[in-house]
Amino acid sequence: MTRSEALFAEAQKYIPGGVNSPVRAFKGVGGTPVFFKSAKGAYLYDEDDRRYTDYVGSWGPMITGHSDERVLAALREQLDQGTGFGAPTEVETAMARKVCELMPSIDLVRMVNSGTEATMSAVRLARGFTGRDKIVKFEGCYHGHVDSLLVKAGSGALTMGVPNSPGIPASLAEHTLTVRYNDIDSVREVFRIHGDAIAAVIVEPVAGNMNCIPPLPGFLEGLREVCDGHGSVLIFDEVMSGFRVALGGAQAHYGVTPDLTALGKIIGGGLPVGAFGGKRAIMEMLSPLGPVYQAGTLSGNPLAMRAGLTVLNAISEPGFHDRLGHMAQRLMAGLSAAAGRAGIPLQVQGVGGMFGLFFTDKGPIAHFDEVMACDTERFNRFFHGMLDKGFYLAPSAFEAGFVSAAHTEADIDDTVLAAESVLQTLG
Ligand code: PMP
Repeated sequence: MTRSEALFAEAQKYIPGGVNSPVRAFKGVGGTPVFFKSAKGAYLYDEDDRRYTDYVGSWGPMITGHSDERVLAALREQLDQGTGFGAPTEVETAMARKVCELMPSIDLVRMVNSGTEATMSAVRLARGFTGRDKIVKFEGCYHGHVDSLLVKAGSGALTMGVPNSPGIPASLAEHTLTVRYNDIDSVREVFRIHGDAIAAVIVEPVAGNMNCIPPLPGFLEGLREVCDGHGSVLIFDEVMSGFRVALGGAQAHYGVTPDLTALGKIIGGGLPVGAFGGKRAIMEMLSPLGPVYQAGTLSGNPLAMRAGLTVLNAISEPGFHDRLGHMAQRLMAGLSAAAGRAGIPLQVQGVGGMFGLFFTDKGPIAHFDEVMACDTERFNRFFHGMLDKGFYLAPSAFEAGFVSAAHTEADIDDTVLAAESVLQTLG
C-alpha cells in the first residue's frame, strides 16, 4: 500500500469522500488521489517521495511556480508582524491599487476569500444595482458553488454528474437562465423574452471549467452589446483567466470591457483570496457606501495580500506572459504532434498560460455539447498513464491545464516525450 492509499483511507473516516473539494477525489478518473507533502517550482512531491511535473498549479494560483522564494519572503516578513487584525492595513490599498492598474475596467475593488465569494457578491451587487432578479449564465461554465450559479455548472459539478445540485430552491434556480456558450443568438433570444428582468450576464471569458474553450470572435463583443441594450450588468468571471491569459486578463486580451470582474486564484498567490470590482457607480452601491451588504472577517488578510501582491508584481515584469505563452504553445504543439504520430485523435487548444486536451477527431471545440461528445474514458487512461510517469494533470476531462513560469523547455519536452509513449498505448 502506498502512503497516499493509507492517508486516503484515513481521510475518508473524517472528511466526506476524504477531500475538501470534490474533484480532488479522482472520482472522474478513478483510482486513489495522490497526497502531496511539498512542492517547488514546476514540481510536486508526494508522500511516497515521487516527483511530478505539475500542470495543475493548485488549480491556477501558482503561476510563478510553487514555493516562490519572493512569496515565501513576503510571508515570513508578514508573519513577524501579525497574521491578521480585522482592521485596515496599508497592504490592502497597495493590492487594490495594483488590481485597478492591471485591469482598467476596475475603478474600485473589494477583497474576499475565494472565487465563490467573488462571484456571489458580484451577482448580488448586480441585482441590487439593477433592481432585477434574473441572471444569465452559460451551460458548462463554473463560477463556484454559489446557489444561483450551480445550475448547469461545469468543473466538479460536471465531473460528479450533478450540474444542478440538490439543495437549491427551485424558486431561486428559476431566476438563473442558462444559455449556450459561444452562441450569441441564444443570448439574444433569452433577452428578447426576459430582457427587462435580467440583472446580469456572468461568463468565463475563456471557459476553463468544461476543459478549455476560448470565446469565438464576436461572442464577448456580442454580450457587451446585448447588456448595453438592456441595461444589464456584464460580469466577467476572471477567477481563472485573470492575470493568466494576459496580464490584464481576458478583457485585455480580447479588448472587451465588463462592468464587473470576479477574481481569485492568482490574486492570492496560493493563499485563500478572491476579489470583485468594476465600475465606480456599481461598486458604490456596496456597503458601507451603499445598501448592498457584503463583508468578511478575514477579507483583506495581510498574509494573503502580501502573497498575492508579490505574485502580481512578479508577473508584471516585462516578457512574463510572452514566456508563459511560449511554454504553453510548445506544450500544445508537442502534444498535438505526438498524438498525430501515435494515431490518436486529439484536439489541443488554449489561450496564454491555459490549455485543454480533447480526445476527439473534431476540429476546434467551441461548445458544451462538443465537449460532452469527447472520449472521457480515453482521457482517463491518458491521465493515469501520465501520472504513472510522473506528470500531474487535472484529474478530470473537464478542467483546463496550466503552465507556470517555473516550467522550462526541458520540462515541456519531457512531458511531450512521456505523453507520446502513453498515447501509443491508447489505440
Ligand atoms: N470561477 C471560476 C471561473 C473558477 O474556475 C472557480 C474555481 N475553479 C471559481 C469561480 C470558484 O473559485 P473558488 O474555488 O476559489 O471558490
